[in-house]
Amino acid sequence: MWNLYKPFIKSKRQNELFEKADQLATRIKTRASETDRIGKFSNENLKDLKEMDYHSLTLPKSMGGEELSLYEFVLLQQKLAEGDPSVALSIGWHLGIIMEIRDEQLWEEKTFEWMGREIKEHQKLINRAATEPATGSPTRGGIPETTATKTKSGYILNGRKSFTTMAEVLDYFIVSAFIQEEDDIGWFIVEREQNGVSIKHTWDTLGMRGTGSDDLLLKDVIIPSSRHVEKKQERKTVPKGWLLHIPACYLGIAIAARNEAIQFAKHYQPNSLNKPISEVHHIQDKIGRMDLELLNAQYFMYAVADKWDQNPEYRTELGPDLAAVKTQATNAANKVVDLAMRIAGGHGLSKTADFERFYRDVRAGLHNPPMDDAVLQTLSKRALDD
Ligand SMILES: Cc1cc2nc3c(=O)[nH]c(=O)nc-3n(C[C@H](O)[C@H](O)[C@H](O)COP(=O)(O)OP(=O)(O)OC[C@H]3O[C@@H](n4cnc5c(N)ncnc54)[C@H](O)[C@@H]3O)c2cc1C
Repeated sequence: MWNLYKPFIKSKRQNELFEKADQLATRIKTRASETDRIGKFSNENLKDLKEMDYHSLTLPKSMGGEELSLYEFVLLQQKLAEGDPSVALSIGWHLGIIMEIRDEQLWEEKTFEWMGREIKEHQKLINRAATEPATGSPTRGGIPETTATKTKSGYILNGRKSFTTMAEVLDYFIVSAFIQEEDDIGWFIVEREQNGVSIKHTWDTLGMRGTGSDDLLLKDVIIPSSRHVEKKQERKTVPKGWLLHIPACYLGIAIAARNEAIQFAKHYQPNSLNKPISEVHHIQDKIGRMDLELLNAQYFMYAVADKWDQNPEYRTELGPDLAAVKTQATNAANKVVDLAMRIAGGHGLSKTADFERFYRDVRAGLHNPPMDDAVLQTLSKRALDD
């Protein structure tokens, strides 16, 4: 079968990294339907990620990582999502956050060096906890209801975060909270094992069930000033290239569905036909349309990632293009999975096949940031502005 990654692997290093993601994808694929059934982040997957040192890949080389470029990150994440998109999206948050702190120098050097050691030497995982029931998507600009109250030596955090991917297995949360005394939103490193930190199992969703995106509860959590790592007022407004791991993830699901559908079409021969359905015109038409969607979305995504890497001086202008990739890719992925389901027919509805899981998982991409209406507004604003 023609390999849809072929045009995008351009060097020996990329090939080696891709092989690593491929091996990991093969391992996690074997558990994808079980983690989907239980709706939790699997401990076996966690072990595999750490064993292969996948979680260190975006760390700078000086900290023992591979210092992945955005292009490489996207390539690996897409391949990993073919095995299990829940694992890919989850570790994508962790890796992407490290990439952003690394490239934007968001944290004080010594704090980032400490976190680098935690990740490389002690296999620790982090994620941001930003979403809350009252704010909805934080990208809309809502003020967190989680509060950070100033004390002599730091802060006390109280609140509740929803959609916290991997909550149960994370070691550190980067939590957003409103600081009344400073009239600012701050980001705080919270340890899983601290007093007052607990997880409420709320994640029971249609798709991406294996991300275990449960609620994080904070009750009088004491935070020293040194763990107040980011201040909204001080943040530069650089577009977030690392969020391309989202379209990469959903395109990974689309490739998995496309490959399954082609295999199915090549082998399924009902007794009304003297040939497999892959030789029937309307099936070939659907296969062609799947590849058209995928080629279009992939060339767009990899071109923008490459632009980000090769032209850092252009990054501040790349926000609308990054957002457009997300909308284009997640909608294309939904179309591809729909076409794959139509090829499989009623077989695709069975719980014993993977199609129905792809169909549920791919839907979640529409609700990861940035959302379609916001993307269209951004593009239209750019077009209309003088
Ligand atoms: C699989 C998955 C993993 C996730 N992991 C994380 C994570 O690790 N950490 C984290 O912090 N978050 C995470 N999220 C949360 C995600 O970033 C969003 O916050 C969440 O999906 C809610 O977004 P929403 O647009 O559906 O919700 P809402 O913002 O509540 O929107 C609901 C509806 O209201 C509309 N709406 C809301 N506000 C506005 C507005 N101002 N203007 C116009 N329309 C508006 C929306 O378009 C939508 O139609 C995850 C989400 C998913 C699906």
